[in-house]
Amino acid sequence: MARRFIPVAEPVLAGNEKKYVEECLDSGWISGSGTYVEAFENSFAEFCGVEHAVSIVNGTAALHVALLALGIGPGDEVIVPDLTFIASANAVTYCGAQPVFADVDAATWTLDPQDIAAKISMRTKAIMPVHLYGHPANMTPIIELAKAHDLHVIEDAAEAHGAEYKGQRVGSLGDIAAFSFFGNKVITTGEGGMITTNDEELAKKARLLKGQGMNPERRYYFPIVGYNYRMTNIQAAIGVAQMERIGWFIERRREVAAWYDVALKNLPVLTMTEAPWAKSVYWLYSICVSEEIDRDLLMAQLLEKGIETRPFFYPTHLQPPYLNAAENQTFPITTKLAAQGLSLPSSARITEQEVARIADALGACLQTSAKIN
Ligand SMILES: *Cc1c(COP(=O)(O)O)cnc(C)c1O
Repeated sequence: MARRFIPVAEPVLAGNEKKYVEECLDSGWISGSGTYVEAFENSFAEFCGVEHAVSIVNGTAALHVALLALGIGPGDEVIVPDLTFIASANAVTYCGAQPVFADVDAATWTLDPQDIAAKISMRTKAIMPVHLYGHPANMTPIIELAKAHDLHVIEDAAEAHGAEYKGQRVGSLGDIAAFSFFGNKVITTGEGGMITTNDEELAKKARLLKGQGMNPERRYYFPIVGYNYRMTNIQAAIGVAQMERIGWFIERRREVAAWYDVALKNLPVLTMTEAPWAKSVYWLYSICVSEEIDRDLLMAQLLEKGIETRPFFYPTHLQPPYLNAAENQTFPITTKLAAQGLSLPSSARITEQEVARIADALGACLQTSAKIN
């Protein structure tokens, strides 16, 4: 039997997705309102254990609107991890505010509370922990810092649907949170996003901002400059079908991670761990190889064996738009992880045999991918 090419991520659309999308097409409700939009928001709010969920066109827009709802604007600073997808920082930039980068901690790869404390200034308005690769950030010290300095906390939960911090689901831990349903995330709507909050005023502001700023009580009257950031009923239909199986998606990912833990046990790589207070959803099962290994060569060799992998994010402070944002600052943990980290195939489809095949290939390629000095 031909060996399957194993991608890093792939969606599973095996439930009612097609049926619900056909209902949208048959009924003509294909645009930015409809029963699926409401049903998706309600089921997502209930899942996260929050009062309000506001659907939106994608995860980046969710971050943008969440920041605007908090009142973030020009002159303000928001602390974001240096190790994250660029959208975390870009959303701050869209508001005319300044992202200020903090390093991550070596154990969880999420915001290091000590470095946050060092980066707080008179202009700091908010902290944006990112639940990276499905593992929740260490929220208690972050929330304590926020309280002490009168700052908002906005969770970037784009990669962590269903992850738990001390038994509480992400999306319910800060003042407001943003999720993504891009095709490679824990669940997907193709493109899509969600804002969650327990604060009714923030939810109202978010709805106003995403719907062109139109007054909900007075049609075609626009008290503010808003955006057209609506999710379509078709996207939401896919979302409702995905939510029906979200427990399965999370259990599958945790099962795949457990197989990896065993299969990689004797290899010289640092694997992802779960902090004692965390339940990770293992969006991407990721590892860090030693400095003697040429990570990019290793990835190329794995690809030749039909196994796709993905390098960690570049440090955000080294991305061209942010080169001036962190002059004379160092981010040792992010720098090391960005150079030596890679994510392994992690979709809900992976089988135990495939994990064994990946571990074998990794073991072999580690022998042949040492750096030439
Ligand atoms: C995917 C992602 C986003 C952006 O979501 P989109 O839906 O692609 O706009 C934001 N932050 C993080 C950490 C992400 O992984």
